[in-house]
Amino acid sequence: MQKLALLKGEVKHYDWGGVSFIPALLQIENPQMKPFAEYWMGVHPGAGCTIRLNDGREVLLRDYIQEHPEELLGSAVKQLFNGMPYLLKVLDVRDMLSIQVHPSKEQAAIDFELENKKGIALDAPDRNYKDKNHKPELMVALSEFYLLHGFKPEKELLATLQAVEALHVFIPVFEKKGYKGLYKMAMELPQEEVNELLQPLINRIIPLYQQNQLEKKSEDFWAARAAQTFVQPGSIDRGIFSIYFFNVLHLKKGEAIFQDAGVPHAYLEGYNVEIMASSDNVLRGGLTSKHIDTVELLKHTKCEATYPKIIKASKGEKEKEYPAPVNDFRLNSYELKAGEEITIHPATAELLLLTNGKVALSEAGTRIELERGNIAAAAFAGATVKVVAETAALLFHATVPVK
Ligand SMILES: [Zn+2]
Repeated sequence: MQKLALLKGEVKHYDWGGVSFIPALLQIENPQMKPFAEYWMGVHPGAGCTIRLNDGREVLLRDYIQEHPEELLGSAVKQLFNGMPYLLKVLDVRDMLSIQVHPSKEQAAIDFELENKKGIALDAPDRNYKDKNHKPELMVALSEFYLLHGFKPEKELLATLQAVEALHVFIPVFEKKGYKGLYKMAMELPQEEVNELLQPLINRIIPLYQQNQLEKKSEDFWAARAAQTFVQPGSIDRGIFSIYFFNVLHLKKGEAIFQDAGVPHAYLEGYNVEIMASSDNVLRGGLTSKHIDTVELLKHTKCEATYPKIIKASKGEKEKEYPAPVNDFRLNSYELKAGEEITIHPATAELLLLTNGKVALSEAGTRIELERGNIAAAAFAGATVKVVAETAALLFHATVPVK
């Protein structure tokens, strides 16, 4: 059985995506300037991810694994998950994404069944739960990266509410009812009041934004950009409140962050590699034209202070691990100099993703070169994969933490 193969992911052309980063990685011409938002690698039903076998056949990764689950997943992962439990992606965020929260595993299972019982179709626009799984996420920045990540600590949030006139109305609620009361109020305010509060703020910051007088570390920058991105006549997006409530994080290239169930977040701008439990359960809280279910959102949102724990970039060490407190995935990267060699011993179905340079992979009778155009490979339990860097290279390695 072949235990190393070239892998082709699936491009997602969501309209917030950039037009050049992913096409350049994949060596795809993009004369129509279509948005290339995400590149998915995994067995999720939403990813038509294939591998190329030595006999020339291209098969779906999930079909290949399903035929020999024990041999390819390894017995531990087969037993625990009965499949490949994670999904790996490359993202190019040009326009900000919706504010979102992902449910815990326990709650996702309950709510998935509830929606089934209610007879809401899996692909209905008002369906919240697409599967029974949680979706913890870990991202590594491939460029300067901006995101919203959890509620600000109390003092900081209070200072923001005091500094921004449009937010004064929230001060008594926050003081009396804390994070939950604040967020509930922002999400449930009648639309006319949202408009009344936010219109003067927008009128003030849009000219500053257009004159490049706002910095990306300032909430005003993203609020102005949101106001220009999510335009619906007579209806200002209430997600703009959250831009001021949440931590605005700036990750430098190579830095990473983990986002657990219940932590509200939104990607604002930049390129990243992201690994998550194989799920598509998203509850939205604004900055979107998609379905918002406020009751479900509030139920899953951890209304508490978040002290961001940014995982530092590698300082030139050969191997860098990005810790995440979940058993669905583990991500590390290898920063190799030309000529350097490492050996990987996959414990399960693992993915190798090259974002820079050129490497040769070999296992038994299989040899694969990864470089721009062919950036990913799958390796399976029991293989011994030799990696030789032909130039300086950055290689990500996704697996599952099993003993
Ligand atoms: Zn998310």
